[in-house]
Amino acid sequence: MKKRVAILGSTGSIGTQALSVIDEQYELFTVEVLTANNNSKLLINQAIKYLPNVVVIGNKGHYPVVRDALESYDIKVYAGEDAISQVMEMDTIDIALIGIVGIHALKPILSALKNKKKIALANKESLVVAGELISKTAVEYGGQIIPVDSEHSAIFQCLMGELDNPIDKIVLTASGGPFLNKSIDYIKNVTRCQALNHPTWKMGKKVSVDSATLMNKGMEAIEARWLFDINPNQIEVIIHPQSIIHSLVYFTDRSVKTQLSFPDMRIPIQFALTYPHRVKNSFQSLDLLQTGTLNFLPPDVKKFRNLALAFKALEMGGNMPCILNAANDVAVQAFLDEKIGLLQISDIVEESMTLIPRIELPTLSDYFETDIQTRKKAIELIK
Ligand code: MG
Repeated sequence: MKKRVAILGSTGSIGTQALSVIDEQYELFTVEVLTANNNSKLLINQAIKYLPNVVVIGNKGHYPVVRDALESYDIKVYAGEDAISQVMEMDTIDIALIGIVGIHALKPILSALKNKKKIALANKESLVVAGELISKTAVEYGGQIIPVDSEHSAIFQCLMGELDNPIDKIVLTASGGPFLNKSIDYIKNVTRCQALNHPTWKMGKKVSVDSATLMNKGMEAIEARWLFDINPNQIEVIIHPQSIIHSLVYFTDRSVKTQLSFPDMRIPIQFALTYPHRVKNSFQSLDLLQTGTLNFLPPDVKKFRNLALAFKALEMGGNMPCILNAANDVAVQAFLDEKIGLLQISDIVEESMTLIPRIELPTLSDYFETDIQTRKKAIELIK
């Protein structure tokens, strides 16, 4: 029987790459649900191609367009953010790929896990903000999280078959982004275009800027803490510009495991969808002779302060990662709108972490409240 897949955020970078994986593995998968926030045009085209049972458009303003376009098809069309959470209750979903960007993914993720779903998780912000709540919910209800991000997929794969064998540490690899070897003075004046031009990975805008500032790696450290139930002091970051080694697990017996591949997000996306199986595909195979030398160097946290700030938020815990995430979100948008320079993102994040009150044990509503307060404060700081 084919696996029935829900793709949340089907018009985004992860969503479209997931659909290209499914195109090739059409004998294994059917598309059950497609959701998008704003891109109604692409959502309609995808719906006509894949004929899912349900389509959800997050932005209610686009509902009439989507409904009318799909009128003659046997597809249910819903609208609004709540509808995205509600469809996660459908018992015809075998796996939900969460490709939505931002904290909006939190409610659908919790809904999916409460309904004992398997989720292929690409969204970062939800784990950064409420990783503890998400991992607890998965355990309590029997949902399962399979990471999609290349680093976490690598760690997940390294831990397969390891039972409870003790881990010494996890090392996350980072490409270092487009400004790895540039001076602070140079980075101060980089443009939006330069920041979006990532050397190894093809990604959405937000993740590309976060990779350029290393915030992405800091957020991945926070994600790793919750995905693998590991202490913050057991997580390290190393720069590896070629993006061939996707992260490493050090075991206490001094053995180290890693996972390598050509940098192509479709590889971890496919693995998350076919897990625990591996399925042949047509993607580029890794050729180490052609790759040549692999380099490793320590991250420069003076230049890329966001990485240090993320580790600080991780250590402080509570709602600090939520503050970090919200302030960064606003600051990245301001950078994309050409209102601030790339390095000012760290200033906004740092000031927000000082100004917004810390909550030791936040509830779900505390997270949403912290998110709102921080965004307000960050907008003020940018003005
Ligand atoms: Mg990554």
